[in-house]
Amino acid sequence: MNRIYATRNGHTVIDEMEASTDIYKIISVDIDNGSAGYYQSNKKSSGGTIALNCNDFNLSTLSHEIFHGYQDFYGQGGRSIVNEIEANLFAYSIAKEAGESTKQTNIFAITKGNEWDDCLNSYNKNVNTLYFSPTLNNDAFNYVRDEFHSYSSKNLRGSYNEYPLQQTNQGNRLISKFYPL
Ligand SMILES: [Zn+2]
Repeated sequence: MNRIYATRNGHTVIDEMEASTDIYKIISVDIDNGSAGYYQSNKKSSGGTIALNCNDFNLSTLSHEIFHGYQDFYGQGGRSIVNEIEANLFAYSIAKEAGESTKQTNIFAITKGNEWDDCLNSYNKNVNTLYFSPTLNNDAFNYVRDEFHSYSSKNLRGSYNEYPLQQTNQGNRLISKFYPL
């Protein structure tokens, strides 16, 4: 947690959340659901719990789940592909500044053998724009959102098939103020 707070973007998020009267808890439990962690909202915009499935020392997992808390804090909580993309981009920025591996925050597509695939290439081009542009590129974001189910390496096992692309309360791109990542 201290290492996240030491980064520019981590500092911003934690300060904003701590200044509110909402309560955010972090617990360590081992839930055999295959995920590294999850965020559970208390609903009614009143805080929530970040559960780390014994990944207490994993910077990327904690950053990812903190950002889900931040989305909830702004009334934009709930499962969706847009929230997953944002949480991964945020965790990327933290890991990068902290000098840790950004591997876990990678949403690029994996090339299947030497197969030439124009769609996969355009997906990766847009992901690249999201990670490396000085400001958030909305067209790239929407492209990645729409193709995430088909191409993201995060969905190789179909873990996100049930997630809608976006919910009605998720119109603002909260990640935009954290650029450049
Ligand atoms: Zn997530």
